[in-house]
This record gives sequence, structure tokens and C-alpha cells, in this order.
Amino acid sequence: MFQWFGKVSFVPYTKVSDFARHLKDGRLTGSRCKQCGDTSFPPRADCGACMSGDFELVERNGKATLHTFTEIVAAPTGFEDVAPYTVGLADLEEGGRILAWIGDTIPKDEVEIGMKLQVVPRIFEEVEEIKVYYSLEKPGTTWGVAPPS
Ligand SMILES: [Zn+2]
Repeated sequence: MFQWFGKVSFVPYTKVSDFARHLKDGRLTGSRCKQCGDTSFPPRADCGACMSGDFELVERNGKATLHTFTEIVAAPTGFEDVAPYTVGLADLEEGGRILAWIGDTIPKDEVEIGMKLQVVPRIFEEVEEIKVYYSLEKPGTTWGVAPPS
């Protein structure tokens, strides 16, 4: 159970509740498997390499470089209202790749391959389970930090 921005969740997601706590505190984390050392971002509760469920969260800086991008005009079901929007594939400075929305801090005509980015988590606060997506923003962009409880 955790309390977050005034909401209390009773969902027993003990494996990932620390991930939510770190996000709340403005820190981005990935996972590292304690068995084989494989790392993943976004974090995975079960290792993609050896299937072990024994993992620890490690802080990630979220710095990234845009590898490629595309504008979605014909949006899939559920996203019609927000089209057109731009998604980018970015290489993370600390390893790995992320596919995410290009956020509001970057005007559409300034998006270019090779530009520096900051991965920013966007949290759905209206749902009980931890639900997060990421956007790619200008370097230095931060996200909400919850007041101390
Ligand atoms: Zn592993």
C-alpha cells in the first residue's frame, strides 16, 4: 500500500511500490537483476534475461538522444482525440532505448534526429494501479515532486 498525491492505493504491488515512491520523489529508476546483473529501463519485476524475480531498483538519469521520430496522423483506437502527435525513439545515455511521446517542451518544428532529450515520467493519478508512460522533453525538464507526507 502506498499513498501518493493524496490518493491511497490498496493494490498490493509490493514489487513495484518502491518504483512509484521514487517517481514521486522526482527520481527515475530502472531495474537490475540480482542474479545475472541484466538491467532494464523501464524497470521489470522479472528479469528478461534469466526470468529471476530477484531485482533491485537503480537510479537512471533519463538522458537520451533522439534516434528517430515520426508524426502519428492516423491514430490507433483511443488516441484519435490527441492526433496528430509525435513519437520518438531515443537512445538512453545509460543504455537501452525508449519509445515515447515527444512532450510539450519541444515545439514540433524543433524536433530533429540527434537532439538531446530528458525522459520524463507521466503518471496517471486517477487510477489505482501504478500506470505510467514517458515523454521526451528538453534537457533539464523535471516532473512533479510530491510534498512530504
Ligand atoms: Zn537476470
